[in-house]
Amino acid sequence: MAQQDVVIIGGGISGLSMAFYCSQAGMKTTLIEKGKAVGGSFASHHYSSNGDSFWLELGAHTCYSSYQNLLGIVEACGIFDTIIPREKVPFTLLKNGEVKSITSGLNIPELLVSAPNLFRLKKDNLTVREYYSKIVGQGNYRNTISHFFNAVPSQVTDDFPADMMFKSRPKRKDVLKNYTFKGGLQSVAHTIAARKGIEVRTGSPAETVAMSGGRYVVRTEDGQEYSAGALVLALPSAVASKLLQNVNQAVAHHLSLLKYADVDSVGVVVRKENVSLKPVAAIISPDDTFFSMVSRDTVKDDNFRGFAFHFRPGLDDNAKFKRISEVLGVGLPKIEHTVTNFTVLPSLRKGHREWARKADDLLSGARNLYLTGNYFGGMAIEDCVSRSHDEFDRMAR
Ligand SMILES: Cc1cc2nc3c(=O)[nH]c(=O)nc-3n(C[C@H](O)[C@H](O)[C@H](O)COP(=O)(O)OP(=O)(O)OC[C@H]3O[C@@H](n4cnc5c(N)ncnc54)[C@H](O)[C@@H]3O)c2cc1C
Repeated sequence: MAQQDVVIIGGGISGLSMAFYCSQAGMKTTLIEKGKAVGGSFASHHYSSNGDSFWLELGAHTCYSSYQNLLGIVEACGIFDTIIPREKVPFTLLKNGEVKSITSGLNIPELLVSAPNLFRLKKDNLTVREYYSKIVGQGNYRNTISHFFNAVPSQVTDDFPADMMFKSRPKRKDVLKNYTFKGGLQSVAHTIAARKGIEVRTGSPAETVAMSGGRYVVRTEDGQEYSAGALVLALPSAVASKLLQNVNQAVAHHLSLLKYADVDSVGVVVRKENVSLKPVAAIISPDDTFFSMVSRDTVKDDNFRGFAFHFRPGLDDNAKFKRISEVLGVGLPKIEHTVTNFTVLPSLRKGHREWARKADDLLSGARNLYLTGNYFGGMAIEDCVSRSHDEFDRMAR
């Protein structure tokens, strides 16, 4: 059985950033990821044909100058010069078959009357609907802005805590406001995973966690066992809850209280000459079968264009591809390549900060057990890395 200082389960950006901090401190670190490659929602799909290659984001697509912890890791990994700008193409609204600007959906008089509330109203203890319908007006919220918010975590966000939706953080002045990386986000994931001191095991999910002689023993589906003094779970809350059943019922139960939504994504790659749609960053279509379509037009390619549709759950493939073909104006035979991806994102609710505080209380009494993920300070990449940073600090103490 492999004996490590720390075993991390889950190879998304939460697990990878934790692995980075642990390995930097000289700890023998194993990271277990059930997928074929690391990255989770911080991964890019690669496609190549006749020597032409292309990548497309099916999950996260944009990083910001305020992602200071992520940037710290990027610098330490020596890949700061792989940061590339995103083209300035618009976020658009699809209404009555026409692609328009987001602002075209706004009632300006209503916006002007409501906007002063921005200076009066605090987000604390209000839901997204309660807060933003006062800031932009109820009609604007219902008809336009709510759809824009829903597009962010691919689910209805009316009941999300307003203060966890968009957070303002200090920005770095020497970095582009928003950016991605050469080769897509996956390039960062792979660079972290390749660091000295991190042993990565992909392709088999962690199935059970037990305690033996004061150490955690993780068993994967393929029968491998890993033993470590410290355990980090960097997984969707429901999976983490299940794995902890036999080692910490209190934390397992607390994790089971969180709700989450399925995100059902389909990516398509089309030869450039076959799409007439003007370049867009994204399309949001109110009350449609998809929450958003995020395009690769933000990083131009000579041969291909790529589009990731994030659908409402429960649609069959025929319905999804019919809608993709309609929105892009491209017949199905012209779609050169498709890829599907299922993931989950937390459905945060008012009072989530109390949930997170209680989680930390329970963890402080647990033996060398650490939790990171996108359900603590928020869902953004930087929230995940910040959480890993804090959990690593606790481990180091
Ligand atoms: C469509 C979409 C668009 C987004 N856009 C942005 C954006 O532009 N900017 C931004 O900042 N954030 C964005 N986000 C949010 C951000 O990408 C995620 O919150 C973040 O990447 C989550 O990272 P994570 O490591 O916590 O979870 P995940 O990425 O979900 O990683 C968890 C990992 O655990 C693995 N796993 C599950 N079960 C097991 C098991 N039993 N054993 C081993 N491994 C297991 C999974 O395969 C997965 O790789 C977006 C999210 C989505 C879905």
